[in-house]
Amino acid sequence: MNILITGGAGFIGSHVATFHLERGDEVVAVDDLSTGNPANVEAFKSHPRFRFVHADLLAWPGLAGAAKVADRIYHLAAVVGMFRVLKDPVRITKVNVGATEALLEAVATSGHLPQVVIASSSSVYGRSEAKELGEEDDVVFTPHDGGLTGYGLSKLVNEIQAHAYRESFGLPVAVARLFNAAGPRQTGTYGFVVPRFVDEAVKGKPLTVYGDGRQTRSFCDVRDTVAALDLLAGCRAAYGVPVNVGTTREISILDLAKLVIERTGSNSEITFVPFDEAYGAHFEHIMRRRPVVRRLQELTGFRPRFTLENTIDDLVSSHRPAPLHAHA
Ligand code: UDP
Repeated sequence: MNILITGGAGFIGSHVATFHLERGDEVVAVDDLSTGNPANVEAFKSHPRFRFVHADLLAWPGLAGAAKVADRIYHLAAVVGMFRVLKDPVRITKVNVGATEALLEAVATSGHLPQVVIASSSSVYGRSEAKELGEEDDVVFTPHDGGLTGYGLSKLVNEIQAHAYRESFGLPVAVARLFNAAGPRQTGTYGFVVPRFVDEAVKGKPLTVYGDGRQTRSFCDVRDTVAALDLLAGCRAAYGVPVNVGTTREISILDLAKLVIERTGSNSEITFVPFDEAYGAHFEHIMRRRPVVRRLQELTGFRPRFTLENTIDDLVSSHRPAPLHAHA
């Protein structure tokens, strides 16, 4: 298969590349390296079936040609990471909405029908504090100019774009609502909590829990995320409907900090940082995010292979010290 990965030097994108190279496919990874990192694809840079293109999707002259020859496209290029999202709100719509439109249009005019996977996000649920989040549930947004709202809405627009191109052009588009992927090669530079805690624990620095640490998340090992994306891409019944991708184990951020300290054997302490200090005054915090994964299981038979303990251990082994913003 010919695989095109947008955001291919990013955390998830580089794992998609590994997955398909191991399977014997040809892989083209395009990335503007805004948050992607060449080090993520260093290991297979000279692989005969891998090609890296350093380009902004919105200005890449090769996009139409790449769409013509791809059998499958993973669209992962986006402005991601809480610090990044808050810092650059203009790029949220420009990149997240604009690049998705450019990609879908290139596919629609390519004369063939590659499978397309659009990466959506649990942030489409907005401020919903439901115990579990199901694909048919209402989403909750309040009028606010903060980056988080913009990010969640940009991902919701991506879902609408995918649906529209499915309806109008019959594109085989799967929409994956990703819940907190974590694992090897992830960097804490842009805010993601698991690699930040690992970095702090490994360096013996205090683990900085934002708020009181009672907020919860359900983390999914990136290798499971990638396996689910592969299953969704090939699943005809999944096209055009959003599908939650994640695990149902819910953990508070304080318990996550304790778990990271335990797994790393670190002497680090835990400190608490108010949300407004971490993210700025108008930040709207999300207290819980746990997916209902019935749709994913019924459509694809997906079952996660990695526990959160596996994820932390493997992240520790692959740990690269990263510059930490904010409270580093
Ligand atoms: N968080 C934290 N310390 C950090 C980074 C994040 O306590 O150094 C918290 C953050 O406030 C949120 C949770 O961890 O409640 C997950 O944050 P992340 O940015 O990884 O994902 P998201 O908030 O998008 O789910």
